[in-house]
Amino acid sequence: MKYRLLFPALLSAFVLIGQTTQSTIDQIYQEALSSSPVYPNLEYLCKKIGNRLSGSPAAAAAVAYTRQLMIDYGFDTVFLQPVMVPHWERGNKEIVRITQSNAGQMDLKALALGNSIGTGPNGIRAQVIEVSGMDEVEKQKDKLKGKIVFFNGPMEPANYHTFQAYGNAVIQRAYGASEAAKYGALAVIIRSMTQALDDEPHTGSLRYKPNMPQIPAVAISTRDADRLSQQLKHTKPVEIYIETHCRMLEPVQSYNVIGQLNGSEHPDSYLSVGGHLDSWDVGEGAHDDGAGCMQGIEALRLLRTLGLAPRHTIRAVMWINEENGGAGGTAYAQQALQNGEKHVAAIESDRGGFLPIGFTSTGTDEQKARLAAWREYFLPWGLHSFDLPGGGADIGPLAQQGTFLIGLLPDGQRYFRYHHTAADVFETVDRRELELGAASMAALLYLIDQESW
Ligand SMILES: [Zn+2]
Repeated sequence: MKYRLLFPALLSAFVLIGQTTQSTIDQIYQEALSSSPVYPNLEYLCKKIGNRLSGSPAAAAAVAYTRQLMIDYGFDTVFLQPVMVPHWERGNKEIVRITQSNAGQMDLKALALGNSIGTGPNGIRAQVIEVSGMDEVEKQKDKLKGKIVFFNGPMEPANYHTFQAYGNAVIQRAYGASEAAKYGALAVIIRSMTQALDDEPHTGSLRYKPNMPQIPAVAISTRDADRLSQQLKHTKPVEIYIETHCRMLEPVQSYNVIGQLNGSEHPDSYLSVGGHLDSWDVGEGAHDDGAGCMQGIEALRLLRTLGLAPRHTIRAVMWINEENGGAGGTAYAQQALQNGEKHVAAIESDRGGFLPIGFTSTGTDEQKARLAAWREYFLPWGLHSFDLPGGGADIGPLAQQGTFLIGLLPDGQRYFRYHHTAADVFETVDRRELELGAASMAALLYLIDQESW
């Protein structure tokens, strides 16, 4: 089996005797579980910098922090890649209030959706009409004019694959506003994207369709969505008052943050690994996606610390603006194409810092067969799922050059309790689970790097 050493003199010779691929993989995990700084690094990002929506001062601070961290680790090259990002601000706290119902007045726990326009200081007061999903808008189109449309389609609770359930329901959040506006609605309320029944509203981005009126949009907690739905069954009409102060400002100069270990044999072929540096403006962006960023940096640190000098150039990338635009991922792929940087593979961690159970992927049959063949190296470390399709939002644009796209797959049962909420804080991340995810990506980078592509 092949091995390569960055500082041969620093390692005792007998370490190399009998070095198998499995023992190298095991060393990566052992190093991560015994002396990794990934957890305190995430703590710094969450507690000292905090949430970091694109265009915010905190996002700029996160750019500076991760750049310096990679310089301190002695990566060969660390640089910023300019990206213009949208700048949306929430403004003062939202009000979403049932003003007329059998149960009297009731304030609902709400967050404006990212990219939404605000109602202005006078708010919007109107009768509410409930729909079970996008399909029902068309059926009820004659009743929507002048109303607030309440999208109450749940994330299917019985679906084990939580990201699939999310994918099926999130269309309401993304396009519900434009769909309702088409028929004269004044605003929309969305049931939060979670299978949990609790009081936590989940924000997230919407996309206004071109040539359609833009109307305000908010998400309410699932418990409040059930309450509102109950009221609508017993009271006619139910009226709601919505007041939001969010607005879209001028675009801001921001950056993807990139650190790399130069390849010894194929310096012009790249493997990229990382997550997105921006987060929503509530909570601390711990699972989404501080964890993925810190794991990406840690993957390179692990390889370097263990003297596993890469044959291909390996990059840790902190993509900016995944949450409300995707500008970082788009710019990265464009630059790669322009600079003739052949990206062999890219690995993204954007499903939270939970216990890793495998990898998802998108690529050719041959690429996927190679990934599946490595499963045996990971079984001792608890990873077993290597066949599901996937990748990541930020690496997706690299598909145009045939890059093998891979997503770290952690256990997904708890992710949507925290996703896009005030509850996505550092304390909800487990140290060992975070370390195992970083080690998994480092181990996979090592395996990819050993082969010719
Ligand atoms: Zn994310």
